Amino acid sequence: MGVQIGVLGGGQLGRMLALAGYPLGLRFRFFDPLAEAPAGQLAELVVGDYADEGALARFADGLSLLTYEFENVPVSAVAWLAQRLPVYPPPVALEVAQDRVAEKTFFQGLGIPTPLFYPVLTYSDLQDGLERTGWPALLKTRRLGYDGKGQKLLRSPADLEAAWARLGGQPLILEAFVPFERELSILAVRSLGGQVAFYPLVENHHAGGILRKSRAPAMPARLQHEAERIATRVLEKLDYVGVLAIELFEVEGTLWANEMAPRVHNSGHWTIEGAETSQFENHLRAVLGLPLGSTAPRGQAAMLNLIGLRPDFARVLEIPGAHLHWYGKEVRPGRKVGHVTLRADTPQELEARLVRLEALLAEVTG
Ligand code: AMP
Repeated sequence: MGVQIGVLGGGQLGRMLALAGYPLGLRFRFFDPLAEAPAGQLAELVVGDYADEGALARFADGLSLLTYEFENVPVSAVAWLAQRLPVYPPPVALEVAQDRVAEKTFFQGLGIPTPLFYPVLTYSDLQDGLERTGWPALLKTRRLGYDGKGQKLLRSPADLEAAWARLGGQPLILEAFVPFERELSILAVRSLGGQVAFYPLVENHHAGGILRKSRAPAMPARLQHEAERIATRVLEKLDYVGVLAIELFEVEGTLWANEMAPRVHNSGHWTIEGAETSQFENHLRAVLGLPLGSTAPRGQAAMLNLIGLRPDFARVLEIPGAHLHWYGKEVRPGRKVGHVTLRADTPQELEARLVRLEALLAEVTG
């Protein structure tokens, strides 16, 4: 029957993994609490709760190996499955990435700079922390935060009460606000056999904590080397297998780590058309112990997320070099429902195409 890969999480990342795996003759089975999970439109989907061992057992039956596309999968579910199946990336990577304090402590232990941070449980911890970080600072939940959810910017003491009312009562992290020049990310991949490859740095633009736009390759070569050194330390320490994304801040020409995702990543979507081998294909090659494909860029690429809107597909596709990905999700405000990657041979050509696409999307937003 060939190789069947189990994927925890059935979102768009899972869907794109399946799309990359079909040419290799792979089959997929997804696990997600939601029956309408987008990967279910393409592959087998087991709907269940992560705490339901019966559902996990049905999911695991006959699979060759397990991976995940969602990093907030309960570690207990992964540990249960890991007793029955090979799991990549290693569950320890998930454990570190799920807790912002553990993650930043981990980076610092490897000599990788991070924003100054302070764990907060009580209001007095918050006050102590602010003495260290100064203003402005960001108060975030330690767990389950993504796309800017679960965080509050503290500009002055006037913001304290409202932030505490919203976030207090759970483990938090206070971070100094970093006046970064740019946000970058590095996607690295390490195979079962220990082969390692890096994609070119990506420049990312967020609004409201959600990724809006990525551009690659981002320069200069010096930062690329620095990012690769950072990623190498993480890959080696975790004996990592699969694609790993690290989000970085560029601060006065150096790189600080903000967070990592032990999975394929939104800032790597451009690789589907913009690199010789996509992050999705390379993740699959890595977990299967196959040779990795080249991560070389094919010219210039930019990716725009479609957030809470459905543009006219024909008008998007009229733009030369445009590739539309629609995730099969219902459109709701603030929800990532698709993305468009633009490819071009020169930065000037890419810029002209981006201006056109951004104008088109602005029309839909109104
Ligand atoms: P996160 O959930 O940590 O990825 O944060 C989402 C976005 O908030 C980041 O991509 C940054 O744009 C911004 N952000 C997070 N942490 C900091 C920080 N310590 N200083 C400045 N901006 C930050």
